[in-house]
Amino acid sequence: MKVLVAGANGKTGRQIVRLLAERGHEVRSMVRDEAQVPGQRDLGAEPVLADLEGEVRHTAEGCDAVIFAAGGGPGSGAAKKETVDRGGAEKLVEAAEAHGVRRYLMLSSQGVQAPEEGPEKMQPYLSAKARADERLLQSSLDYTIIRPGSLTNDPGTGHVTVNTELGERGEVSREDVALTFAVALDLPNTYHKTFELFSGETPVERALASI
Ligand code: NAP
Repeated sequence: MKVLVAGANGKTGRQIVRLLAERGHEVRSMVRDEAQVPGQRDLGAEPVLADLEGEVRHTAEGCDAVIFAAGGGPGSGAAKKETVDRGGAEKLVEAAEAHGVRRYLMLSSQGVQAPEEGPEKMQPYLSAKARADERLLQSSLDYTIIRPGSLTNDPGTGHVTVNTELGERGEVSREDVALTFAVALDLPNTYHKTFELFSGETPVERALASI
C-alpha cells in the first residue's frame, strides 16, 4: 500500500516508517525539516515536506492509507494541542476524504475516553485527542483508533494486550506500537475499531485477529 505517515520523524513514527518499508509498503513520510529528509530515505521512505499547522491536503493525494503519529509533544502547551494533535489530525481526515483515501489509522492515547478524569495538566491534550478521534469516527473512512498506554523505549517483544473495554492504564513500547500499526494497516477486522494497547503476552497478529 502507499501510506502517508504524519509524525514520521517522531520516536514512534520512525519505527512505523521502518517497519512499513521493510514490509514492502511505499511510505510517504511527512517531515517539516529538510534536514530530516536523508534519514527518512535511509529508512526506506520518500519524504514530503509539510507542516501540520499549515497546508497539508496535497500530502494524501495518491495514497491508500494515512497514519497519524504526530503530536505537539509533552513540552507543548494547549495551543499546540489544538493546532497539531487535534487540528493536524482533523486536516488529514479531510485530506483523506478529499483524495478518496479509504484507510486511516490514528495514534491516540489511553485516557482519551474520559479527558475530564485525567490529571489536570493532561486534560488539554486528552481533550484535543478526543476531538480528533471523534472527527475520525464521524468520517466515512475505514478507521482504526489505537490508544496505547505510556510509551517506552524498551525493545519490542511482538506481544501485546489489546483492550476494547476502554479505561485501562499501562505501558507499551514504541516498537510494539509500531508493529501493531504495521499489522493492523491491511487487516480488515480492525476497521471501525477503537482499542487500547498495552504490553502483554499475546502475539500482535493474534491479538489483532481477536478484536
Ligand atoms: P514524538 O517523538 O514527540 O513525535 C511527534 C512527531 O510529530 C515529531 O516527529 C514531530 O516533528 C511531529 N510534529 C510535531 N508538530 C508537527 C507539525 N506541526 N507538523 C508536522 N509534524 C509535526 O512522539 P512519540 O513519543 O513518538 O509519540 C507519538 C504520539 O503518541 C504522541 O504525540 C501522543 O499523541 C501519542 N501518545 C504518547 C504517549 C506517551 O507516553 N508519550 C502515550 C500515548 C499516546 P519533529 O520531529 O520535526 O519535531
